[in-house]
Amino acid sequence: MPISAEQLALSRTLRKNGVFEDATAHRIRRKENIILLLACGDGAHILDVVEFQNTLWEQIDNDNPPVIQTVTPNGGVAVLDPLWPLHKRLPGGLENVWYYTLSGMILKGARMIVGQPHFPCGQARLSDVEPVDLLTASVRGKLHFKHKLKHEPNFLTWVLDIMNDKGKLANDRYEFAKTLPQDHNFGLYPHVDYNGSGKGEDAGKRTYFMSAEKFLRFVGNKPIEF
Ligand SMILES: [Zn+2]
Repeated sequence: MPISAEQLALSRTLRKNGVFEDATAHRIRRKENIILLLACGDGAHILDVVEFQNTLWEQIDNDNPPVIQTVTPNGGVAVLDPLWPLHKRLPGGLENVWYYTLSGMILKGARMIVGQPHFPCGQARLSDVEPVDLLTASVRGKLHFKHKLKHEPNFLTWVLDIMNDKGKLANDRYEFAKTLPQDHNFGLYPHVDYNGSGKGEDAGKRTYFMSAEKFLRFVGNKPIEF
């Protein structure tokens, strides 16, 4: 599936306005080597996505090779959005992605979530989600998840209780989990496959960093609150 004219135009505009920034190691202040990657499982791109993240985080912590735990629902990080269209038809879809994201962090000891939307995305197309709305859903999903983790203690307890169904969750996992509400990061890294459609900046597969604040300012939205 080639990138659409609309997706290409939006990517160019976001680059020009500094909303899509090159995802380079020098921008990352926090030394992390355990990453929870929440990305679309699209088989045409996922290898590039994981390899890029592996190289990026390798540069952050040269002493420890990255550990990248992946959660890959079709649609990627946008599936965290409570308003994602599929949730109306798929009971438990949102709760599933909450569970696998947070339990993956607890299992591996990850404090860093890398959330990835991508163009072109087959699931977004099926769900009739416009390119700019895919990014809005990604921002909303990120903010909603962070809000739940920080301000709803029952959210963490719900995940821990499921993980400990057989009484086998170690104490150190509990201790780690308790620190997560106040000590985690969630970055958005959109991926674009230009599919040989252009040259220079418009060629190949690219991963960007996108600040939620910059994106919301760009689209003129009020801050999203819950
Ligand atoms: Zn996709």
